[in-house]
Amino acid sequence: MLRFTEMCTPNACPCKFFNCLGFTPLREILPKLPRFIPENGLEILDKEKAVSFLESTSEKGYVHSIWAGPLPAIVAVCSCDLPTCGAIRLRTDFDINACWKGHYVATVNLDKCIQCGNCNDICQFDALSYDPNKGPRIDLEKCYGCSNCAEMCLENAIQLVERDSIPITRGKY
Ligand code: SF4
Ligand code: SF4
Repeated sequence: MLRFTEMCTPNACPCKFFNCLGFTPLREILPKLPRFIPENGLEILDKEKAVSFLESTSEKGYVHSIWAGPLPAIVAVCSCDLPTCGAIRLRTDFDINACWKGHYVATVNLDKCIQCGNCNDICQFDALSYDPNKGPRIDLEKCYGCSNCAEMCLENAIQLVERDSIPITRGKY
């Protein structure tokens, strides 16, 4: 479970100059790094505002990543996309494990799918392909478990399942 600490502030990330969510360990550091301070300054968020912030970035289709360091502290939750996110691109384009896949993968229940096409083009990892005649198909080995496709499905036809519960994705983070 993600725990919100005393400081939770949107800050500008180096890749996109987009607002990420920084946590307490950055409290001392961020004010000394003007490049990462948004134009309207640093704002301290309470838990409700932090959740609302993350929900608003989810609605835009961004992918969330959790950043740790010094371990075990979580220092930031980033919301970004491809091809902007430097960490994800290191992984997808150069096979360098700068970030890890999520604990889940997405699966489609075709019995619930009405082939509305809402999930078409939502996947930033090229894991979901959509055929107007057959509906969506998910390549589990490409899926990062970001949940964006599941969020798009109003029929609840896409669900996240534990990565380790499926033989071909078990242990592959
Ligand atoms: S959860 Fe869906 S959108 Fe995210 S990587 Fe997997 S298939 Fe793509
Ligand atoms: S959004 Fe849901 S119902 Fe629509 S095509 Fe995708 S899986 Fe099927």
